[in-house]
Amino acid sequence: MMGKKGNSLIVAGAGVWGLSCALACARHGWRVTVLEKDRVGAGASGGVVGAMAPHTPDRWTAKKQFQFQALETATLFWEEVEHLSGLPTGYGRIERLQPILTHKARTLALARAVCAQEVWQGRTTWTVEDAPDWIAPVCAPCGVIRDNLSARIHPAKATRALAAACQATGVTITEGVAVHGLSDSGVHTECGDKHADAVILAAGVGGFDLLAPHTARTPGAGQKGQAALLKCDLGTCAQIYADGLYIVPHSDGTVAVGSTSEDIFDHPTATDAQLDALIARAQRQVPALAGAHVLQRWAGLRPKPRKRNPMLGPVPGLDRHFVALGAFKIGFGLAAKVGETLANCLEGTARIPDSFSIEAHTGD
Ligand SMILES: Cc1cc2nc3c(=O)[nH]c(=O)nc-3n(C[C@H](O)[C@H](O)[C@H](O)COP(=O)(O)OP(=O)(O)OC[C@H]3O[C@@H](n4cnc5c(N)ncnc54)[C@H](O)[C@@H]3O)c2cc1C
Repeated sequence: MMGKKGNSLIVAGAGVWGLSCALACARHGWRVTVLEKDRVGAGASGGVVGAMAPHTPDRWTAKKQFQFQALETATLFWEEVEHLSGLPTGYGRIERLQPILTHKARTLALARAVCAQEVWQGRTTWTVEDAPDWIAPVCAPCGVIRDNLSARIHPAKATRALAAACQATGVTITEGVAVHGLSDSGVHTECGDKHADAVILAAGVGGFDLLAPHTARTPGAGQKGQAALLKCDLGTCAQIYADGLYIVPHSDGTVAVGSTSEDIFDHPTATDAQLDALIARAQRQVPALAGAHVLQRWAGLRPKPRKRNPMLGPVPGLDRHFVALGAFKIGFGLAAKVGETLANCLEGTARIPDSFSIEAHTGD
């Protein structure tokens, strides 16, 4: 059954992963319907930060390689999304700076520069240099790491553009219909059973609940993150990552500041004093942000998988169900490769790291 063009596919969830799967599968010839319980971008993908950056180049793993390849193909992918949709995504290949606080950290950064030459094979660079004058000197006393593979995107705009690109490619997106469970021939929904030749579960945190009855252990949980959008034009400044703090200049004269990481929380979409503290930290790092008007405060749930790796591939014991879950903190960074990987997976030709399987996460 798998691999026949023209067969029907249901994708559960219209976040960046569900939509990238829908787009890739439609281009492989599948008849695709996306079922979204709320609206496009209602989950984590509707946020504001959008840093797309590589892992450190030392202790190279299959996951790091997957992400490296995803980042390398991202430019082409998002350009195509803009072309198909006619909408902006905010994508831009801007560099990333990581301030260095101690001499020990600088020594490690220099050692990683050597690793980068080996594993990145000269295609992108990781260098250690003096901090630019727009970063407060006290925040980068030992210089900065600069990498030129990193990019940024505007998550909410990019997700809207991706949805429009899907529709332009023949995908049907049905909002306001929740998937309630997986059936032998498709999915159960509140509007009755829907049949399809294949199903991809890409429902973010909601996907863990749908998958749980089919796995021995809970596959993952939501982790809350808060972020803000400030009105400030930093021009051609690079993005900054400093010990959990992201400062991401967007193309529209705004700057995103993120993100908290909360495994325990009362309300998934409320913002509080933790976000104020983050904004204050960002203003200390980059003095030009002082006094900038806060345009938006935003919070959402990252789909945090049990083993911190993405979950891509077949659902054990079911022959037509697949997952694209566990995007966690790097959903936008990986999106360009996730869709194509799932399209190949449906056709039985994907090469996916073993650590990404459901079995590797839940011990099934
Ligand atoms: C504060 C914050 C900052 C972040 N910063 C970055 C960053 O800088 N870079 C980066 O790459 N990533 C970042 N992320 C992570 C990124 O947002 C996620 O990895 C990504 O958006 C997850 O995409 P997804 O499609 O898997 O899930 P989601 O975007 O959550 O989409 C899932 C969709 O499924 C729908 N759904 C749920 N249940 C059902 C159901 N039963 N039936 C049908 N539909 C259902 C939901 O309504 C939702 O629309 C950040 C996240 C947060 C919270």
